[in-house]
Amino acid sequence: MARLAQTAGLTDVQQEILSTVRDFVDKEIIPVATGLEHRDEYPQQIVDGLKDLGLFGLMIPEEYGGLGESLLTYALCVEEIARGWMSVSGIINTHFIVAYMLKQHGTQEQKEHFLPRMAAGDIRGAFSMSEPGLGSDVSAITSKAVKDGDEYVLNGQKMWLTNGGTSSLVAVLVRSDEGHPEGTAPHKSMTTFLVEKEPGFGEVRPGLTIPGKIDKMGYKGVDTTELIMDGLRIPADRVLGGVTGRGFYHMMDGVEVGRVNVAARGCGVAQRAFELGVGYAQQRHTFGKPIAQHQAIQFKLAEMATKVEAAHAMMVNAARKKDSGERNDLEAGMAKYLASEYCKEVVEDAFRIHGGYGFSKEYEIERLYREAPMLLIGEGTAEIQKMIIGRRLLEEYRFQG
Ligand SMILES: Cc1cc2nc3c(=O)[nH]c(=O)nc-3n(C[C@H](O)[C@H](O)[C@H](O)COP(=O)(O)OP(=O)(O)OC[C@H]3O[C@@H](n4cnc5c(N)ncnc54)[C@H](O)[C@@H]3O)c2cc1C
Repeated sequence: MARLAQTAGLTDVQQEILSTVRDFVDKEIIPVATGLEHRDEYPQQIVDGLKDLGLFGLMIPEEYGGLGESLLTYALCVEEIARGWMSVSGIINTHFIVAYMLKQHGTQEQKEHFLPRMAAGDIRGAFSMSEPGLGSDVSAITSKAVKDGDEYVLNGQKMWLTNGGTSSLVAVLVRSDEGHPEGTAPHKSMTTFLVEKEPGFGEVRPGLTIPGKIDKMGYKGVDTTELIMDGLRIPADRVLGGVTGRGFYHMMDGVEVGRVNVAARGCGVAQRAFELGVGYAQQRHTFGKPIAQHQAIQFKLAEMATKVEAAHAMMVNAARKKDSGERNDLEAGMAKYLASEYCKEVVEDAFRIHGGYGFSKEYEIERLYREAPMLLIGEGTAEIQKMIIGRRLLEEYRFQG
């Protein structure tokens, strides 16, 4: 096998797209990623390159100027990109989720207004559910929208927006009481608003402030921010799908495809960690031979490669299930859970193989070691994935006695 994580049954078009992306990653991302990450610098040149490749419109239908590709193609591209630098996959991920939500749930006018410019990468998307007081428990959202004539007035504070500063369209989930009387189930009284804004920090639209970048341990380069709404006025035609009370379902649908994407990121980071580990193990000598010739290290490499293969297979399976039009929450939850846990383990093994040098910022594995933990949290923690998986298993295997 030339390399791990091959995917059987791809079309010529898919293979061509992937080979172009892999080439871009090898030439334009890997050589500069660690330097940019250490400086926490936004990778503008890489983003421009992705724009030229059409990656911002990969899954947007052709009628709106995109490439109309499948979730599988998208996930395999994300895997390649994360192999180069996880932060770059973060830049396209929230964009992809917002475009997906618009494609699935937007009104015709909303699709025509946003999707062509999103496909070109001229409008870039962020999505916002989390608040300072909640992440897993989306039903506890406190931000509110109140109807005022043809507009809604939004108030509240949001937290952890990936691409919060660089985006110009944010899908924001808030509670909207209009038409949903007191006592309505929390998930039936939430609405997604399509909030257009200027990229940047400070007051980016009257009533909307993006205070600044959150300083993170890893996943640098891509901006992660808070968002403060203080009397933010949004026209009624910017309610996603034109109907209030459906926001929770819109977001869960978006997050479901997002989970395949996070699994793909885990696969890509783990592959890179394996490449670094297997390379270093053949160069470093101890006790008279390359450390790769010590059985303990070979066993580590065997475990790492097996995990890379297993995670890739589950991720591909989850993407294919969604592409076939079937519900894939069980498969996406399993793939996200397994790929992120395995990613953390493979990265740690590659770090150990590097000995003391793994602790030096000169070595790429140091960056991967700080990036992998984000995958354990984003798009739902391991515990939340297990809750989803467990619930679905009990549905599928209902006791008949
Ligand atoms: C770098 C980064 C980028 C992010 N980007 C975005 C973004 O773009 N948009 C967005 O909306 N959010 C984003 N998030 C937020 C992310 O989705 C949340 O951090 C995540 O969902 C977990 O929520 P929390 O941090 O509030 O943890 P909590 O929900 O407070 O959970 C804390 C701990 O308790 C556990 N736990 C919670 N409930 C249960 C339960 N019922 N049973 C067992 N254990 C439980 C959790 O698994 C976790 O271990 C981002 C986060 C990070 C770190």
